[in-house]
Amino acid sequence: MTRKHLIAGNWKMNETIPEAVVLAQEISNLMERDWLEMVDVAVCPPFVDLKPVKTVFEFDRVDIALGAQNVYWEPAGAFTGEISIPMIKEIGCAYCIVGHSERRNLFGETNEDVNRKARALIEAGVTPIICVGESLAVRDEGAYLDFVCAQVRAAYAGIDGDDALATVVAYEPVWAIGTGRTATPEQAEEVCAAIRATLAELFGAEAADRVRVLYGGSMNEGNAALLLAEADIDGGLIGGAALKAGSFTEIVKAAL
Ligand code: PEP
Repeated sequence: MTRKHLIAGNWKMNETIPEAVVLAQEISNLMERDWLEMVDVAVCPPFVDLKPVKTVFEFDRVDIALGAQNVYWEPAGAFTGEISIPMIKEIGCAYCIVGHSERRNLFGETNEDVNRKARALIEAGVTPIICVGESLAVRDEGAYLDFVCAQVRAAYAGIDGDDALATVVAYEPVWAIGTGRTATPEQAEEVCAAIRATLAELFGAEAADRVRVLYGGSMNEGNAALLLAEADIDGGLIGGAALKAGSFTEIVKAAL
């Protein structure tokens, strides 16, 4: 089946509100409206930027979705510093990144946390973008497929086939994130195909065929076309290049 590509920009902890408004405006200006009929596009700014970015896109009537970069699974309560799913949903987020390697490695997020977040997001009707990926040490040892597929199994524990359809997976090798060292199309395809095979084991081939698997890790306007041409790569999760409107929109163009 043909899966519609998804290009999602992860702005990480960048852009104050005025800067975010400028970046959103530049993206809107450069984005050809008919591309958005062929490719799904989302940006995931910091929480405080979500509303101002949404206002820009609404004013411009540009169909770019919003995503959050993280969330907590409880709906409300005494969880100082956390943001709930009802909060990001109300503000207009269609997506939420979960299990980004920076959250796993810098903030101690576990596979169990990722699973709880994914399940709570699905229940609320927000699409989790579930990030998985191996470190350089794991890749060098050679067991990276087992490692990544175990992360996938853990993330989907207790999720059924229908709900799995409402998810996106992002394969992001840690050694390629923010390093300028991109996985080759063959390396990325090998793991994305293994992720899809794991989804097929869990939910059946038909469901697995409908779940989008993205690649992330130093994707830019120069390498996007070759990566996106691979059979099991259905889009990109973009970090650094998402902060440059020209680069981000060129990646969207490469995904057409
Ligand atoms: C990311 O952090 O999700 C990412 C892919 O970053 P970069 O594109 O900068 O490697």
